[in-house]
Amino acid sequence: MTAAVPNRKNRARQAETQLGLVRRARRMYRTLIVAFPDAHCELDFTTPLELAVATILSAQCTDVRVNLTTPALFAAYPDARSYAEANRAELEEYIRPTGFFRNKTSSLIGLGQVLVERYDGELPHTLDELVKLPGIGRKTANVILGNAFDVPGITVDTHFGRLVRRWGWTDEEDPVKVEHIVGALIERKDWTMLSHRVIFHGRRVCHARKPACGVCVLAKDCPSFGVGPTDPETAAKLVKGPEAEHLLELVGR
Ligand code: SF4
Repeated sequence: MTAAVPNRKNRARQAETQLGLVRRARRMYRTLIVAFPDAHCELDFTTPLELAVATILSAQCTDVRVNLTTPALFAAYPDARSYAEANRAELEEYIRPTGFFRNKTSSLIGLGQVLVERYDGELPHTLDELVKLPGIGRKTANVILGNAFDVPGITVDTHFGRLVRRWGWTDEEDPVKVEHIVGALIERKDWTMLSHRVIFHGRRVCHARKPACGVCVLAKDCPSFGVGPTDPETAAKLVKGPEAEHLLELVGR
């Protein structure tokens, strides 16, 4: 696979029909399946509640740091009631390393209380109910639906929004509009894995500042090819993560 993008294709894309966009989006998704066959939620969890807690903690914090924090937290707070009845100062100490710990503590205690009062301590299974819980917005709700309940969901985080705009799938900035537009391009059954694979690509290849265009598997279908270095040698140094070798092999490096 080469990283070059013929001008002819860029011109053709300016007049892309909706059907053409659907085909291109699905082709790009198929390429991402090959690039990231094992993409997954990078937060560690064993129950829906643990995933909800980890996702709340992941706001403005890396998944790696959250994963360092949660083993002790989950051992000390095993269920919704333990958050509902938590001593605020003690809970704050557990989650302090994740930043914004006062707000996050309020969310966790509030979440525990609502779950105990209204849902018998269990997380509800619908988007409408999830988004009404303390600390849980639409993005978190979709993470929970997709990864804890196997209900397809599109997670529009900062990586996802940046990439789909670079790809010309949409110009929208509003995450809810992005979710609906992308949902119309990609089959519903693929939404959760699409989210993981797009986020993986954003973390490893298509970085915010210096995307590795010169070694990107999506180069021939990406209208933004060239926003990052196109020289393969330079670009190869920008690829991150454990899949780097596999990703470079796919483009013949
Ligand atoms: S790295 Fe470059 S070519 Fe690849 S998806 Fe991002 S902008 Fe497009």
